[in-house]
Amino acid sequence: MIYLDWKSKCRKYNVIIEQNCVDYIISLAQGNNPNEIGSSLLGSYKQDGFTAIIKGVSPIPKDSVFTRFFFKRGASGLKEYYKKLYNDTEGTIHYIGEWHSHPYGEPIPSGKDDKTLFGVCNNFKINCPECISLIIGNDLIDKPKLGLYVYSRVNGRIKLLPEIGKNPFGNLI
Ligand SMILES: [Zn+2]
Repeated sequence: MIYLDWKSKCRKYNVIIEQNCVDYIISLAQGNNPNEIGSSLLGSYKQDGFTAIIKGVSPIPKDSVFTRFFFKRGASGLKEYYKKLYNDTEGTIHYIGEWHSHPYGEPIPSGKDDKTLFGVCNNFKINCPECISLIIGNDLIDKPKLGLYVYSRVNGRIKLLPEIGKNPFGNLI
């Protein structure tokens, strides 16, 4: 298993993604090209609270709507899915953020993306004060580019950069 390692400039924030998870996200994005697609990121935080490991993505609810420049997150079946995930993993794997595609666009957050993610990290009910956003953009078929951000209730939006040498997407960012 290859792990892709992303860090903030200050090196406080660290996000690790398993290669098979990145491959799966890319295949979903490619499968829906040129429309956007997305769902939630699943994983865990290390005890320090600043290192997250992305291990998978939530299923795509049937009531989601995907178009060229817009998508609406559906909710159908998710409640049951998260309940089962909690039981199966004894709470070790849970919601840690969102991912979505920007077909033929830069993997940087739009104003709407910022609004959505700040809404999540500031929502005390969701209880995800350090929320991760993964965006996959550019030509999704030939040259996908990844962008990774942490939205912190306290520190705002933080851009993460791939560790050079460890990350096959590093030279594409
Ligand atoms: Zn977006």
